[in-house]
Amino acid sequence: MDEAEAQGKSPFRRALDEILDLIAPRRCVGCGEPSRELFCATCEANVELIDGPQCPCCGHPHPPTAHAWPLCADCRQAEKIMLDGARSVGFHIGPLRQAVLDFKFKDRRSLAEPLGAMLARRFTNELARPHKLPFDEIDGIVPVILHPTRHRWRGFDQARLLSDELAKGCGKPVWDGVLERVKNTTPQIELTAQQRAQNMQGAFEARKTWKVDGASLLLIDDVYTTGVTLREAARALKEAGASSVYALTITRAAPDWHPKAFPSLEGRA
Ligand SMILES: [Zn+2]
Ligand SMILES: [Zn+2]
Repeated sequence: MDEAEAQGKSPFRRALDEILDLIAPRRCVGCGEPSRELFCATCEANVELIDGPQCPCCGHPHPPTAHAWPLCADCRQAEKIMLDGARSVGFHIGPLRQAVLDFKFKDRRSLAEPLGAMLARRFTNELARPHKLPFDEIDGIVPVILHPTRHRWRGFDQARLLSDELAKGCGKPVWDGVLERVKNTTPQIELTAQQRAQNMQGAFEARKTWKVDGASLLLIDDVYTTGVTLREAARALKEAGASSVYALTITRAAPDWHPKAFPSLEGRA
C-alpha cells in the first residue's frame, strides 16, 4: 500500500489537491520538469511500449528474441482459458509506472484523460500496431471496478475513469453495472501467488443489466500484475454467457527476462 493512501486524506484535502492539480503549471509526470504533455520528450522516449511477441491469450511478453507467439507456460497448463487476449500499453517501469502510481495514489484524477487516450490509441491499433485486439468484434467496455468500500475510501475508481475516457476516444459504450465486486479482497500486494488466487476467488459477479449472452467484452484496469484479478473478472462474465473476454491495461509488470523486472507486485490494489 502506498504511503499517501495509507495515511488517508480528508475530503477537504482531496478537493484541494484536485484544485491544485487543475491550476498548477503542467509538469511532466515522469520527471517534474515543465511540460505541456503528459511526458517531456526525454521521459516519452523512456516509455517502453509492449510491442514484441506475446502469449496470444494472457499477453505475457516473450523475450524480444522470440519470433513466434506461443502460449505461455501458465496458459498451456490452464484448465480453461479465461482471457481471449490481453494487451497493455507499456511495461510498468519508468515514467509510465510513475503516471499510473500518481493517478491512483496521489489523487491525480486529471491523469485519467491522457492515460485513457493512450488506451484508446492502443485499442484502435494506432499504438503498437502489430498486436491487435479485435476492435470491431467488441460490444462493450467493462471496468474492473473496486469494491464499494474501497471506492469510498479512495474517493474514485480508477478503472471506471479510464473506461470513460477510453469510451470517448473509441466510440464503444461502457457497460456500467455489468460487473459487480462482491468481495472486499485483501490488497494482492500483501499475499503470495497462491494466496492471491484464493483471495480473488468469487470476487466478482456479473449482472445481466446488458445483454451479456454472446457478448464480446473488453475489461479495463490500470495494471496487469499477475492477471489473477482480470481472469476472475473474465470468469464471472463468461459464466454469465459472454462469448469472449479481452483485457486492456495501461501497464504490465515487466517479466523475469526484462532487465528492469521489478520484484515487488506494487500497484495491484
Ligand atoms: Zn520528463
Ligand atoms: Zn499466457
